[in-house]
Amino acid sequence: MKPQPALGAEHHCRLCGGDLREVLDFGSQPVSNAFVKADEADEVPFFRLAVGLCTSCTMVQQLDEMPPHKMYRSDYPYRASGSLLIRKHFENVARHIVQTRPGGQNGFVVEIGSNDGVMLKTLSEAGIRHLGVDPAAGAADVAESHGVNVLTEFFDEKTAADIRKEHGPAHLIFSANTISHISYLDSIFRGVDSLLAPDGLFVFEDRWLGDILEHGFFDQIYDEHIYLFSVRSVQATAARFGFELVDVEHLALHGGSIRYTVARAGTRRPAAAVAEYLERERSQRVAEEATFVRFSAEIDRIRTDLLDLLRELRSDGRRVVGYGATSRSATVLNYCQIGPDLLPRVYDSTPEKQGCLTPGSKIPVCPSEAFADPYPDYALLFAWNHAEEIMAKECSFHEAGGRWILYVPTVHIV
Ligand SMILES: [Zn+2]
Repeated sequence: MKPQPALGAEHHCRLCGGDLREVLDFGSQPVSNAFVKADEADEVPFFRLAVGLCTSCTMVQQLDEMPPHKMYRSDYPYRASGSLLIRKHFENVARHIVQTRPGGQNGFVVEIGSNDGVMLKTLSEAGIRHLGVDPAAGAADVAESHGVNVLTEFFDEKTAADIRKEHGPAHLIFSANTISHISYLDSIFRGVDSLLAPDGLFVFEDRWLGDILEHGFFDQIYDEHIYLFSVRSVQATAARFGFELVDVEHLALHGGSIRYTVARAGTRRPAAAVAEYLERERSQRVAEEATFVRFSAEIDRIRTDLLDLLRELRSDGRRVVGYGATSRSATVLNYCQIGPDLLPRVYDSTPEKQGCLTPGSKIPVCPSEAFADPYPDYALLFAWNHAEEIMAKECSFHEAGGRWILYVPTVHIV
């Protein structure tokens, strides 16, 4: 991992125009969700995955980016409902909305990136006016089959204005694991500005840079995560668009996220948690280049250790497979250059990924039902954020003598 020298920086912050210092470079990486059949495997698009730190507003962001239409095709395979943990999380979010009724009886809730409708389904059942906005038609079809209203579009200023014209102002705009995926965040905030009621709230959940740096979760960095939010950078960005960060709540989900609550500036008193998390980030030094220098050395150590382990197991004749063909496995497999020679297959429960190859690394994806047929000696767990759920489900693997390999925060065997 050799970041480019900071001098002569050509990249500018997408939000404030400040200089971006390159701090991480993962080299050439594919579209992380491009699970395709063998005959299309050579057509998967690649780009340089490198991360910069804005010297002005501290927003951490990718230097280059994959065009959205290449990432979110109509066959985009991610389904939020796939995990029980995630399903429960969204049911809780929905229950809270149903109980608090933002905007009263006629309140209107918009979700940006509504995916398969896992959250809005409950709102729909409770008779709450709602609209999901999601460009992935496949997921939107599933949502609509559950009675969820969906607009199959990318959310931006124009879409926001159209929604406002048709439905009136939104009292809550919610989004989970989507806002950090959108390069034109400025247009999102302007859209929220035009759509949100005067006392409305914009609430979004995204992975937190503090957790990524603290726990070595380098594989949270892949094409879709254009921004790596910190409380400090979100606060600065909200302020640029006339908003104020009024609350933050840490969530264990996805290996550590924060739920950011944003209101129009001056309309609410910020909760104490905002100052607490700003202080915590100061002690973590999330906005300092030196922190990323250390982080990149940790990532290189993981790569070396993981490759050493996989090669050793192969020469011992052990059967090793991957478990969970996650988006983040793309960063691990391609950065470490692990292919079918070291990892002959990856098991996954998503039907859309089965029978396909992992992007770039070209490892066949098999249905997780076949994992036991017969059990391998070792399974490299890519879905480490669901480790407990998966290890409980696959307890007979461990009982049969199988061992899990984890690679964050360091490479270790469970
Ligand atoms: Zn900036």
